[in-house]
Amino acid sequence: MKNFVLRAIQKIDQLDSNQIVDILKSQSREVEMLENVLESIEDGVILTDSKLRINYANSNCPNLVPMVRSRNYEGQPLSKVIEDEHVLRYIVLSVYNRADDLDNEFTFQRGSKVQTVAVNVFTYKLQEAKGLSSYVLMFTDVTEHNANEARMRRSENLASMTTMAAGVAHEIKNPLAAMGIHLQLLKKAFVRQNCLTLEDAERYLDVFEEEVNRLNGIVVDFLFAVRPLDTRLRMGSIVKTLSDICSFVEPELAEHKVVLTCDLSSSLPRLEFDENLLKQALLNLIKNAMNAMEGGGKIRLQAKADGNHVVIMVSDTGTGMDDETLQKIFEPYFTTKATGTGLGLTVVYKIMKEHHGDISVESKLGEGTTFTLSFPIPKSERLSLTEPVKEGLYEA
Ligand code: ADP
Ligand code: MG
Repeated sequence: MKNFVLRAIQKIDQLDSNQIVDILKSQSREVEMLENVLESIEDGVILTDSKLRINYANSNCPNLVPMVRSRNYEGQPLSKVIEDEHVLRYIVLSVYNRADDLDNEFTFQRGSKVQTVAVNVFTYKLQEAKGLSSYVLMFTDVTEHNANEARMRRSENLASMTTMAAGVAHEIKNPLAAMGIHLQLLKKAFVRQNCLTLEDAERYLDVFEEEVNRLNGIVVDFLFAVRPLDTRLRMGSIVKTLSDICSFVEPELAEHKVVLTCDLSSSLPRLEFDENLLKQALLNLIKNAMNAMEGGGKIRLQAKADGNHVVIMVSDTGTGMDDETLQKIFEPYFTTKATGTGLGLTVVYKIMKEHHGDISVESKLGEGTTFTLSFPIPKSERLSLTEPVKEGLYEA
């Protein structure tokens, strides 16, 4: 339709008045249809010109952001219409590409309810406007969406607490049973001999000591896994932290005939991360990789930017895992090792959540495993793909 009208404009002097009336009618029908679409959606939509003067606003806008109520906003400067200074400031900074680090969600009291509204600003260029930008402002009610997310997080936490509690109960059963049996044996020995030397009693007491240590280990690991991490995110380069880790683990890996290669892109964007927690996560992964290569092998630590994320990969040439094992590895207390705690990957998962990141794994039985940690690149570090700053845009 747009192309048809553009062609018609070029040949306008060859058209008679009836043809022109037809074109105008079809245009008016199209505008009406688009307005109906914009009126039917739940979001608020405002279209403005390059100086933030309103061309169009749908009737839902005043229900979402505090603004002057009017039948027709056409031609009015946005600054005279939007009544909330924070929303207005956000829109103006967005237009200047300076709002990347600001939160785009705003909370308003509506009677007895609190409403959260997300503001998004999109830029587009019209050919007829000689390349000047126009803006689409979208206001979306995210109150319900945010509440659902919070509910989901709570139930996820509750579910993992239940699994953890079940795990602990299972774990402490064995040491308690061993202690019970040895207490009985000690009693019997005492009854039999009436008096026990330390030497006689030591067989039983040693077991006691061992099991108490085991119980203590279970409790310490449990507390580490469930307690909220004391996360201190700081903006910085991960390259130094990663090469520190490589130097730290290399001697121990060499003892186990494991060759480590570190492949770190030097131009990585900076990240918000907690250095100690990142080290802890990588040490857990490297230790698991080493454990999976009894007779030696290779570990590769890689870090690179991938879209809006930095990914750190730990690959090994170890035993790999079958699908059944893969399903369970992040469950607390799942271990295939005789002396494993089964909490290493639970902790890594938790650390990644603290970084708003993710962890994934690929594994092939008999070939090896790759764990991938993915960290979001802070908005301020992303390459600015939008237009450069324009002057004189904001009309008060
Ligand atoms: P743990 O190391 O105490 O067993 P983790 O949570 O660190 O506990 O790991 C859970 C299980 O996941 C391990 O017992 C092992 O079966 C499996 N696993 C983890 N990393 C690897 C790896 N790189 N290669 C093969 N199996 C692995
Ligand atoms: Mg482990």
